[in-house]
Amino acid sequence: MKRATLLLVMLQFPLALFVLVVSVAAEKKPAPKPCLTSGCTKITLAYTLGSAGTVWAHAINGEEVHTFEDKSGQVAKIADTTGYVSNTEAEGEKNVDAFLPKGCYDATQKPTPSQLQLIAEIVAVLKANYYKMPDFFWTVLYTAQKPECLNSSSIPQYRTVFIYTSLANALHWDRDALAAVIAHEVGHLQDKYCGEIGQNIVANAGQTPLQQVCEKHADNIGIQYVVGAQNVVSPTGTLLHGVNPNGFTITFQTLQGISPTGAGMRYSSNHPINADRITNVKLALEELCRKNIPNACQYAVPLSE
Ligand SMILES: [Zn+2]
Repeated sequence: MKRATLLLVMLQFPLALFVLVVSVAAEKKPAPKPCLTSGCTKITLAYTLGSAGTVWAHAINGEEVHTFEDKSGQVAKIADTTGYVSNTEAEGEKNVDAFLPKGCYDATQKPTPSQLQLIAEIVAVLKANYYKMPDFFWTVLYTAQKPECLNSSSIPQYRTVFIYTSLANALHWDRDALAAVIAHEVGHLQDKYCGEIGQNIVANAGQTPLQQVCEKHADNIGIQYVVGAQNVVSPTGTLLHGVNPNGFTITFQTLQGISPTGAGMRYSSNHPINADRITNVKLALEELCRKNIPNACQYAVPLSE
């Protein structure tokens, strides 16, 4: 094609060109790494596509594990521009209810508008990320203020993060701590096969280590999402600042203060114990700083301090 003809074609299809440029720019984002430090296990899985979009994964033990059918298209239809779906419309709400001990989820009560606004702002800065991130949806569920209800979850099938008011209250709605919780859950969505397999396998006795591997992945990916969160201007013109990864430490210390062993709390009972998670965050930040990831060095504190 002659250069003049090419130019003419480009002028005729400015939108196509724009889309191409945007998609190329999006492609350039680095993917967050599930492992950042020594002692982190990468899980090798093989996948085959089944009927109707189902995915089967061959887990490390050779067993075939049914993972999920992607239904996030249904959620996209009812989500607002921030990705929010009201909890009465949230797909997978029943699944979340099933995760929680009886009496935790109260469908009759709603989070307040200011609580939703805070989460929407945190989601906005997380989505403006240095790293590649799934375009996720979110909702806030009203949960009873009991230790066994302190939790958060995500369902890869619906690409949705569920924030529980009981954990948010325990964290005093601290912006950085909530960002850590949300980023961890988005970490599961990014590492979706691990997350889904972990959920399935945790029901079987003796399989907890695999779940813990997946939780460490989610922490590591979450740390990268928090460090990678950028300042953004909200639709109303307010400048929203990025978040401080110290929110991870606040969250783990809060959970540790309530139940040092994590017994009875899903968020921590399936997860590595909180003290180990605090150490992992510090080591991960040092590693990100060593790799010259933007913003990482201002937060990295040597363990001896
Ligand atoms: Zn988790």
